[in-house]
Amino acid sequence: MRTVLAQRLSRLGVETAFAVSDDARAWAAQGHTIYPFHLGDMNIRTPLHIIEAAHKAMLDGKTGYCPAAGVPELRAAIAEDAGRNRGVTFSMENVSVQPGGKPVIGKFLMALMQEGDEVFYPNPGYPIYESQIFFLGGRGIPYGYTMTPGGFRIDRDRIEHAVTPRTRIFIYNNGQNPLGAESDDDEMEWLARFCIEHDLWLLSDEAYFHIRYSGKSRSIVSLPEMQERTVILDAHSKRFAMTGWRLGAAIGPKDVVDWISKLNVNQESCTNHFIQYAGIDALKNGEAGTREIVKTLKERRDVLAAALRAIRGVEVYVPEITFYLFPDITDVYRRRGIKDRQEFRKDALRKTGVSFCSRSHFGRAAPDEPRTYIRFAYSGIDSDKIREGIGKLKAYWES
Ligand code: PLP
Repeated sequence: MRTVLAQRLSRLGVETAFAVSDDARAWAAQGHTIYPFHLGDMNIRTPLHIIEAAHKAMLDGKTGYCPAAGVPELRAAIAEDAGRNRGVTFSMENVSVQPGGKPVIGKFLMALMQEGDEVFYPNPGYPIYESQIFFLGGRGIPYGYTMTPGGFRIDRDRIEHAVTPRTRIFIYNNGQNPLGAESDDDEMEWLARFCIEHDLWLLSDEAYFHIRYSGKSRSIVSLPEMQERTVILDAHSKRFAMTGWRLGAAIGPKDVVDWISKLNVNQESCTNHFIQYAGIDALKNGEAGTREIVKTLKERRDVLAAALRAIRGVEVYVPEITFYLFPDITDVYRRRGIKDRQEFRKDALRKTGVSFCSRSHFGRAAPDEPRTYIRFAYSGIDSDKIREGIGKLKAYWES
């Protein structure tokens, strides 16, 4: 039978970073040592009390369906936690539990984006925004960042030139993957004014809100008039080292959240029942666990940053949030004379075992982007291996 696939599939993207995993796995299968800096997964175990809470919930019979919007106790716990940490008030009616943070992206767009609507999204950025915007019939308008002494900053000029009456949505990832970018007060206030002036909805992806090494995370919902036009992507994944458990939430105005829960009814019925009880336990008793996770990550960040800075021609800004570094390796790239960025990545893998993502795994680079960057995730590799791997990379790149 001839397979005629739905046309919309041609607009669906993927996380091309998974192709980097395949390359790394294939290289490891040939007996080589790999230093995995490519995927944002974690090699840190979920705190034991959370595992025990899931086990107890299973034994207690929390193994059937549950409400599509989530178990009421979890919705209430997420509302309390999210409100307290952001200086605002949410009730459980503002929370729709999801199987991970990622599903919030598509469901938010399904609920609020008309076909042909323009949607701002970050590039470089988490690739699922672009995939879902185009898949669902929107027009994605990428926005970039510029490097400053205070870190990466949103390119406001481009955004102000690109906005049109068809623009309806802004996707904002503060604590940004892959850049580690974070808004200062001025930038966040500018963005809030921009959204209000152009009457935009905002998806605030706060997946890394709690992966913070100094200072305090701030959410744009705390600014006047923003709570009513913002849906937060919240997730247990990184905060409690629960990436594979699949637990997150959409937090926002009740009418939108109700529709997101109706999408749950149509898609997965409900998020895994017993895992929601583990999620409640994580929020109630997980603070010490998060502190440990963040402490481990901070040590790795410092080891990685120092090792990268020791390589001739590498410059790296060290953010206080996320578990990514996004070094500028333009000089190394030029020196090595490899013209293709994927070839450059594979060359490093084959010669040193160090596996990282390139800029192009986070959206197409604009033709006028002058510098070359790569992304290192340090959530899945221990400090001694970081030292060893980056030591090999230094020896190779400086040879
Ligand atoms: N948003 C960003 C920016 C991410 O980097 C990720 C995961 O890497 C997600 C959302 C999705 O997180 P989850 O694993 O909770 O679905």
